[in-house]
Amino acid sequence: MRTPLVIGNWKMHGTVAEAKVLAGAIREGLRRPRGVQVVVCPPFTALAAVGELLAGGPILLGAQTCHHEAAGPHTGEIAPPMLVELGCRYVLLGHSERRKEIGESDELINRKVRAALAHGLTPVLCVGETADERRQGLTFTTVEGQLRAGLAGLTPDQTVKAVLAYEPVWAIGTGVNATSGQAAEVHGYLRGLVAELASKDIAQAVRILYGGSVKAENVEGLVAEAEIDGALVGGASLNAPGFITIVKKAARGGAASKE
Ligand code: PEP
Repeated sequence: MRTPLVIGNWKMHGTVAEAKVLAGAIREGLRRPRGVQVVVCPPFTALAAVGELLAGGPILLGAQTCHHEAAGPHTGEIAPPMLVELGCRYVLLGHSERRKEIGESDELINRKVRAALAHGLTPVLCVGETADERRQGLTFTTVEGQLRAGLAGLTPDQTVKAVLAYEPVWAIGTGVNATSGQAAEVHGYLRGLVAELASKDIAQAVRILYGGSVKAENVEGLVAEAEIDGALVGGASLNAPGFITIVKKAARGGAASKE
């Protein structure tokens, strides 16, 4: 059985002081999360402080991207071992904002995925179609291309360590989430591809999160779908009570099983 996972992506928000307040409130509200794993991804500048605050507790630390090399002349970049040193366990890769704003290609994202795995980080590979692609009936073609390229060259043992996130671009930050049915359809398709690329068992073990305007009001319906193993949460992860509610609702068994 796959343990649900909820990841908060804080994007480019918050000073170190603000990040500490947010992380502290989340830590207090989720002292012993049951039936769910929780990761927060602060901006690089706050990783050390938030990492110290969360050290030894159940909430894990993640980064929002990384470079594909371990060191070198790459001004402004952050290497996987630097993230590991700060206590990071996860790293988001292929987020649509980086694909669009920074121009990250599928090939570059694949190099990052492989680098993350090589350094013991869990890559969270994000895929998703734009509104135009959905309108043109290209949803499956788009996510298939991104998934195949992102996981290229991985052994089955490596594939099972990755987390996938279906994030339709039209749903990110818009307040318009995919319906449970729309998301489940794509998740099922992605799981079928993983079965083809690795094996059926691995496809059953890999977690596929949904991301795109997830909030306390819609998370239950989404995670009720067997194919949806949790959420990647942007805007709503910046509010501690809201994020805590999302985590509790995403836990196996729902809020009733949580404290
Ligand atoms: C995201 O950035 O991954 C995301 C899903 O954002 P939001 O929840 O704000 O739509």
